Amino acid sequence: MTLPSSKSSPIPTQVWAFLRYFIKRHKRYYIPMMVAILSYPIYAALFPHMTKWLINSVVDWKTNDDGLSIWQVVAYPFQGIVGSVLMVAIGVSTYYLIAMYAEPKFRNDVHKQVLGYVKDHSLAYFADQLSGKMATRIHELRKSSQNFITTFMWLIARFFAFLLSVASLAYVNGVFGLVMFIWGIFHITTIFFFMDEIQKTSKAHSEKAMSLNGQVIDLISNMIVVRLFASEGRSLSEVEKYRQEELIASEQASWAYQKSLLICSTAWVTFITVMIYILVKSAASEWITMGDFPLVGMACLSMSRVIWGMNAQLSQLVKLYGVLDDGLVLLRAPHSVQDSPNAIKLLLKKGQITFDRVTFAYRQKKPLFKALSQTIKAGEKVGLVGFSGSGKTTFVNLLLRFFDIQEGTIKIDGQNIHEVTQASLRSQIAMIPQECTLFHRTIFENIQYGDPTATREEVENAAKMAYCDEFINALDDGYDTMVGEKGSKISGGQRQRIAIARAILKKAPILLLDEATSALDTITEQYIQTSLEQLMENRTTIVVAHRLSTLAKMDRIIVFDKGIIVEEGTHKELVNKKGHFARLWKLQVGGFLPDEKDNPITH
Ligand code: ADP
Ligand code: MG
Repeated sequence: MTLPSSKSSPIPTQVWAFLRYFIKRHKRYYIPMMVAILSYPIYAALFPHMTKWLINSVVDWKTNDDGLSIWQVVAYPFQGIVGSVLMVAIGVSTYYLIAMYAEPKFRNDVHKQVLGYVKDHSLAYFADQLSGKMATRIHELRKSSQNFITTFMWLIARFFAFLLSVASLAYVNGVFGLVMFIWGIFHITTIFFFMDEIQKTSKAHSEKAMSLNGQVIDLISNMIVVRLFASEGRSLSEVEKYRQEELIASEQASWAYQKSLLICSTAWVTFITVMIYILVKSAASEWITMGDFPLVGMACLSMSRVIWGMNAQLSQLVKLYGVLDDGLVLLRAPHSVQDSPNAIKLLLKKGQITFDRVTFAYRQKKPLFKALSQTIKAGEKVGLVGFSGSGKTTFVNLLLRFFDIQEGTIKIDGQNIHEVTQASLRSQIAMIPQECTLFHRTIFENIQYGDPTATREEVENAAKMAYCDEFINALDDGYDTMVGEKGSKISGGQRQRIAIARAILKKAPILLLDEATSALDTITEQYIQTSLEQLMENRTTIVVAHRLSTLAKMDRIIVFDKGIIVEEGTHKELVNKKGHFARLWKLQVGGFLPDEKDNPITH
């Protein structure tokens, strides 16, 4: 059998391709925005000419007394000035008006698609990541991609303004045009020269900033541990290390920019000096009109703004590029567990589970399961026992396809779980995990998560079956109580009972309980056992038990030892057999299994 290989992202994972992909999706906004913004360079090139025209007309009117009123003389240049200002006002307002609608849509689209891909990463991927860092990366992709495009469009507009101004100056006098052209090109080349350094240092900076953020989130979510070990000081000094690294990286990133700034400033002073010098010199030799003075002055002023603006924007773009490049690692990692291209829906008839020669390793070196075969009949209730670390959780996780196996097949009612959709597979299985976390929502919403269509009454019935109704009603806000992040505001046992209620509501034909009652006291556990037994009726059930006595009613018990099934049979058979299970039974302390390392029997 060939297992599906990992699947890469449908969204491009390189910065420019990523941006192009999203601009194309929103081109109905971005094309008109680009057209509207071009009013700015046209205005920047036209305005000095209009002013020159106006001044020359006034000077003409004063010197030649031909009986015309001043308004007759200046009518055209006056209209020209008002017209060009009006054009840029309309153009730029239109740009902002469209941007008002386009930018939030663009950001949300990026967010939606990135999150849509990231959510399908395997659980192994999530286990390897700092959640704070992942969240920051998603946020940065959303924000920085839009910032990048906005900055880039203004950069193009400014570049056009520069080219048009050079052309319009050259029209007055070739020397002015040439000087301005040389200056502009020198300025831009200088920035390009430093681009690589700015990019590397700002990428390093953004990584450090994200790590700092990730550390803070990790610290906040482990605050209980910090308190328990009275290690506030130590934790803060650990954060301080990250803060220092961020600070140094930030200085390095700024320094690269500062160097380019120094060269550009020198060039700018030289440029202005040369321009004024030529202007004065040419006035003495009467090459130019009076109107050319303000024209050149204005062009110098507006070009200084344009070029310095381009400077800031280029370095901003380089920084944003670094941030985007870093964020895109989320998309560069392929999905390791994914639906095969021809995946169909799982059609559950009875719920028979077959593991056929399954080999599985978390790390490639040593497999946990080697050619493991096992059949669990439809409706059968099977208990899994073994020391902690023997592979019980892995067994149920493989059935849920949280990880892909390396060899063999896992089938439900004859259908290979690698050939059906993950959604259809998991919708047929209710699982109460070893460590259940809750959403930072109300208790009602957390239980209803098992079946979003469930009514209030159904939710309350499920809660009653899981023996949580009583404690919920005793809370100030009852079912509307917020449970805190991951359910931190209620006890572990209460959290577990809510998870049981949630699974009860799911009404799936296959039931997996992974130490589902481990956080409960003996009395509550006994009560819940009755509900769980009801729940197991007519369902294929796998129960991982931490207390062996709870397995007495199972049809069969499977004993795991280091990933190998060493024994199976009914409770009675196994106790009488005097094998591994019998030894476990004896070793139980107060009904619980001790940890493997404390036990001599496997060593
Ligand atoms: P059990 O549920 O019986 O206590 P597990 O199935 O959780 O045992 O673990 C079996 C072995 O696999 C252990 O040695 C454990 O360290 C390892 N293991 C479990 N989960 C992971 C994981 N996500 N990545 C790497 N190794 C893991
Ligand atoms: Mg386990």
